Amino acid sequence: MKIYLDIDGTMIHEDLSDMYCKPAVGLEDFIVALRPYDTYWLTTHCTTGDPTNARRIMKAVLPEELHADIDRIKPTVWQDLKTQGIDFDSDFIWFDNDIYAGEWEKLKQCNDNQTVIEVDLRTNPEHLIEITRDILRP
Ligand SMILES: [Mg+2]
Repeated sequence: MKIYLDIDGTMIHEDLSDMYCKPAVGLEDFIVALRPYDTYWLTTHCTTGDPTNARRIMKAVLPEELHADIDRIKPTVWQDLKTQGIDFDSDFIWFDNDIYAGEWEKLKQCNDNQTVIEVDLRTNPEHLIEITRDILRP
Protein backbone atom coordinates (compact mmCIF):
# COMPACT_ATOMS: atom_id res chain seq x y z
CA MET A 1 0.00 0.00 0.00
CA LYS A 2 1.39 3.36 -1.04
CA ILE A 3 0.62 6.56 0.83
CA TYR A 4 0.81 9.96 -0.87
CA LEU A 5 1.15 13.02 1.34
CA ASP A 6 0.31 16.65 0.77
CA ILE A 7 1.84 19.07 3.30
CA ASP A 8 0.15 22.51 3.29
CA GLY A 9 -3.37 22.37 4.69
CA THR A 10 -3.05 18.63 5.23
CA MET A 11 -0.29 18.21 7.83
CA ILE A 12 0.50 21.88 8.48
CA HIS A 13 -2.12 24.62 8.77
CA GLU A 14 -2.09 27.09 5.88
CA ASP A 15 -4.96 29.38 6.85
CA LEU A 16 -4.02 32.92 7.83
CA SER A 17 -5.07 32.40 11.44
CA ASP A 18 -3.36 31.79 14.77
CA MET A 19 -2.63 28.28 13.48
CA TYR A 20 -0.73 29.45 10.36
CA CYS A 21 2.33 27.24 9.75
CA LYS A 22 1.62 25.19 12.88
CA PRO A 23 1.49 21.40 12.69
CA ALA A 24 -1.91 19.73 12.85
CA VAL A 25 -2.71 18.16 16.19
CA GLY A 26 -1.83 14.49 16.06
CA LEU A 27 0.83 14.97 13.39
CA GLU A 28 3.51 13.09 15.36
CA ASP A 29 1.30 10.01 15.85
CA PHE A 30 0.24 10.23 12.20
CA ILE A 31 3.89 10.16 11.06
CA VAL A 32 4.66 7.19 13.32
CA ALA A 33 1.57 5.35 12.04
CA LEU A 34 2.91 5.69 8.48
CA ARG A 35 5.91 3.48 9.28
CA PRO A 36 4.44 0.25 7.79
CA TYR A 37 3.57 2.00 4.54
CA ASP A 38 5.45 2.85 1.35
CA THR A 39 5.15 6.62 1.62
CA TYR A 40 5.60 9.43 -0.95
CA TRP A 41 5.47 13.22 -1.07
CA LEU A 42 2.69 14.65 -3.21
CA THR A 43 3.13 18.34 -2.54
CA THR A 44 4.11 21.50 -4.39
CA HIS A 45 7.27 21.38 -2.24
CA CYS A 46 8.40 18.27 -4.14
CA THR A 47 7.64 18.12 -7.87
CA THR A 48 10.97 17.30 -9.53
CA GLY A 49 12.05 14.26 -7.55
CA ASP A 50 13.98 16.34 -5.01
CA PRO A 51 12.58 15.90 -1.46
CA THR A 52 14.83 18.55 0.14
CA ASN A 53 12.21 21.27 0.63
CA ALA A 54 9.51 18.89 1.82
CA ARG A 55 11.91 17.41 4.36
CA ARG A 56 13.00 20.82 5.63
CA ILE A 57 9.43 22.04 6.11
CA MET A 58 8.32 18.92 7.94
CA LYS A 59 11.40 18.64 10.14
CA ALA A 60 10.83 22.22 11.28
CA VAL A 61 7.58 21.16 12.96
CA LEU A 62 8.60 17.71 14.22
CA PRO A 63 10.91 16.54 17.02
CA GLU A 64 14.28 15.17 16.00
CA GLU A 65 13.37 11.58 16.83
CA LEU A 66 10.91 11.62 13.92
CA HIS A 67 13.29 13.11 11.35
CA ALA A 68 14.33 9.65 10.14
CA ASP A 69 10.67 8.96 9.35
CA ILE A 70 10.62 12.10 7.20
CA ASP A 71 13.84 11.11 5.43
CA ARG A 72 12.38 7.80 4.27
CA ILE A 73 9.40 9.45 2.51
CA LYS A 74 10.10 9.22 -1.21
CA PRO A 75 9.85 12.01 -3.79
CA THR A 76 7.51 12.07 -6.76
CA VAL A 77 7.69 13.87 -10.10
CA TRP A 78 4.62 15.72 -11.38
CA GLN A 79 3.51 18.92 -13.12
CA ASP A 80 0.08 20.55 -13.16
CA LEU A 81 -1.82 17.59 -11.72
CA LYS A 82 -0.69 15.62 -8.69
CA THR A 83 -2.26 12.50 -10.16
CA GLN A 84 0.74 12.44 -12.53
CA GLY A 85 2.84 11.47 -9.50
CA ILE A 86 0.58 8.58 -8.47
CA ASP A 87 1.26 4.96 -9.39
CA PHE A 88 -2.16 3.76 -10.57
CA ASP A 89 -0.88 0.15 -10.77
CA SER A 90 -0.65 0.01 -6.95
CA ASP A 91 -3.05 0.27 -4.05
CA PHE A 92 -2.83 3.70 -2.46
CA ILE A 93 -4.28 6.30 -0.15
CA TRP A 94 -3.70 9.94 -1.05
CA PHE A 95 -4.13 12.53 1.71
CA ASP A 96 -4.75 16.08 0.48
CA ASN A 97 -6.85 19.10 1.47
CA ASP A 98 -7.41 20.40 -2.04
CA ILE A 99 -8.12 18.11 -4.99
CA TYR A 100 -8.47 19.85 -8.34
CA ALA A 101 -11.21 19.07 -10.87
CA GLY A 102 -8.72 17.55 -13.30
CA GLU A 103 -7.42 15.32 -10.52
CA TRP A 104 -10.93 14.15 -9.59
CA GLU A 105 -11.43 13.32 -13.26
CA LYS A 106 -8.34 11.10 -13.27
CA LEU A 107 -9.37 9.51 -9.96
CA LYS A 108 -12.53 8.16 -11.60
CA GLN A 109 -10.42 5.24 -12.84
CA CYS A 110 -9.52 4.17 -9.28
CA ASN A 111 -10.40 0.74 -7.98
CA ASP A 112 -11.67 0.03 -4.45
CA ASN A 113 -8.12 -0.04 -3.06
CA GLN A 114 -7.14 3.32 -4.51
CA THR A 115 -8.57 6.12 -2.43
CA VAL A 116 -8.19 9.81 -1.76
CA ILE A 117 -8.94 11.26 1.66
CA GLU A 118 -9.75 14.96 1.70
CA VAL A 119 -8.22 16.30 4.88
CA ASP A 120 -10.05 19.33 6.27
CA LEU A 121 -8.13 20.90 9.13
CA ARG A 122 -10.20 24.06 8.75
CA THR A 123 -13.46 22.54 9.98
CA ASN A 124 -11.93 19.56 11.75
CA PRO A 125 -8.58 20.45 13.35
CA GLU A 126 -8.39 16.91 14.79
CA HIS A 127 -8.76 15.22 11.42
CA LEU A 128 -5.28 13.63 11.54
CA ILE A 129 -6.09 12.03 14.88
CA GLU A 130 -9.21 10.45 13.36
CA ILE A 131 -7.30 9.29 10.28
CA THR A 132 -4.58 7.67 12.38
CA ARG A 133 -7.21 5.86 14.47
CA ASP A 134 -9.67 4.87 11.73
CA ILE A 135 -7.58 4.45 8.58
CA LEU A 136 -3.90 3.89 9.37
CA ARG A 137 -4.45 1.72 12.47
CA PRO A 138 -7.94 0.25 11.96
MG1 LIG B 1 -2.55 21.30 0.36
